[in-house]
Amino acid sequence: MDNTKEIVIVGGGITGLSAAYYLQKEIREQGLPFKVKLVEASSQLGGKISTLKKDGFTIERGPDSFLSKKTPAVKLAEEVGLDDQLVRNGTGQAYILVNNKLHKIPRGSHMGIPTKARPFLFSNLFSFKGKMRAGFDFVLPKGKKVQDQSLGGFFRHRFGNEVVENVIDPLLSGIYSGDIDNMSLMATYPNFYRIQQEHKSLIKGLQKTLPKRSGSKKKKTGVFYAFQDGFESLVKHVEMKLDKDMVDLNVAVDHVEKKDHGYHLLLSNGEVYKADAVIMTTPHFTLPKVFSQFDFFQEFADVPATSVANVAMAFDQSAIKRDIDGTGFVVSRNSDYRITACTWTHKKWPHTTPEGSALLRCYVGRPNDQEVVDLSDEEIQEIVLNDLNKTMNITEAPKFSVITRWKNARPQYTVGHNERVEKVRGKMADVLPGVYLAGSSFEGVGVPDCIEQGEKAVGYVLDFLNEK
Ligand code: FAD
Repeated sequence: MDNTKEIVIVGGGITGLSAAYYLQKEIREQGLPFKVKLVEASSQLGGKISTLKKDGFTIERGPDSFLSKKTPAVKLAEEVGLDDQLVRNGTGQAYILVNNKLHKIPRGSHMGIPTKARPFLFSNLFSFKGKMRAGFDFVLPKGKKVQDQSLGGFFRHRFGNEVVENVIDPLLSGIYSGDIDNMSLMATYPNFYRIQQEHKSLIKGLQKTLPKRSGSKKKKTGVFYAFQDGFESLVKHVEMKLDKDMVDLNVAVDHVEKKDHGYHLLLSNGEVYKADAVIMTTPHFTLPKVFSQFDFFQEFADVPATSVANVAMAFDQSAIKRDIDGTGFVVSRNSDYRITACTWTHKKWPHTTPEGSALLRCYVGRPNDQEVVDLSDEEIQEIVLNDLNKTMNITEAPKFSVITRWKNARPQYTVGHNERVEKVRGKMADVLPGVYLAGSSFEGVGVPDCIEQGEKAVGYVLDFLNEK
């Protein structure tokens, strides 16, 4: 009798890829009688990770880097032999654009929250009234214990609207392409809630808990990692480690049906895969359809996912007449700009750009400006150049530009996110044993978070199948 157990991973983004890698590793090391299939709807693996090489430039269409202290990505890079390809970012001044002017982010601010008095008090980012209001943080009682609240509401209460809109919002909501007033505090930055509960004042709490910088004059090192040959090299290296017959490309899983023993997955090519366990790594909004017999997946039907367009523009360095020292800027909502951020990629990531050239990478697509993503390439390029020229005097057209639209690509962790995910998982444990959710819609959007979720799902699957 064949005792082989079948496991299907749905979706070949970084979550599905790391699940496939770690599952294969465990199967080999433990000699388990398990077979794995990875099913990906598109023609290539990687999902949001996509690198373009053009005329000596390395252009990231999706993610470009990750925080070096987030270990799951470093560990996966080591596993596939890419750790010597990790590059730290060049350090330099970062700016915020408020009321159409660039301002230095005050020294000592941690994700926008001031932890040093002098740079904050002398900053011209805030009015006198705004600075006074931020001081309420020292005297306000700690908030009531609540399950969740909006990130915007939490910070507005402690620091007032001006500090939130001029610095905290552009820094925090940009990471999620979200609206700070709809985002869940507990699903995005629960550490701020905990600090406030423990220390009352967020400022004092951060002063006590943040690691102290050494007083030495050593040159600062960057806190982000990119890959020398582009983020896609991670995808390629993981792919190379997988068994050749594991991956199916150009095939979507349309439906998952529960059977007496396990599951049947109906594929877009008409085939049916049988599975004893399934790891779903597709975006949340695909689930109500794939599991249409199970009403509880409707919890995800109305959870938004925003769209953005990433605009990379290559120039001769001489075309940029006002060359500002630094690594780039984010844009506050109190500005007449449509771009939300611009990285001076040639300075932050010199390995991406040939000598004598400049590479600027901008985003458009605020939650309240989603229409911009559907404009033509020419229109988007004009908007971006127009905005850039308000701060940098660019005298020539770009050598080329690369515009990548990401439709419904940024899952929004709105208030109540964690409870929503837990509720669905609780129901799944009852009626869909052996089926697990992982990926950017659930427990963190960063690439390292996705890798961690992929690996965690492997643990769940192994426990489940070993107990069967
Ligand atoms: P995805 O990459 O979305 O993969 C899901 C896969 O499932 C896709 O390949 C899709 O084709 C497939 N699929 C969908 N439906 C089906 C189906 N029915 N059957 C089979 N397959 C299906 N993170 C960082 O850490 N640093 C950054 O700098 C950063 N920048 C970003 C910039 C942009 C523009 C975007 C969009 C994201 C960025 N992120 C960044 C976030 C990060 O890239 C993503 O959260 C992460 O890559 C998502 O991985 P995933 O595997 O969970 O999902």
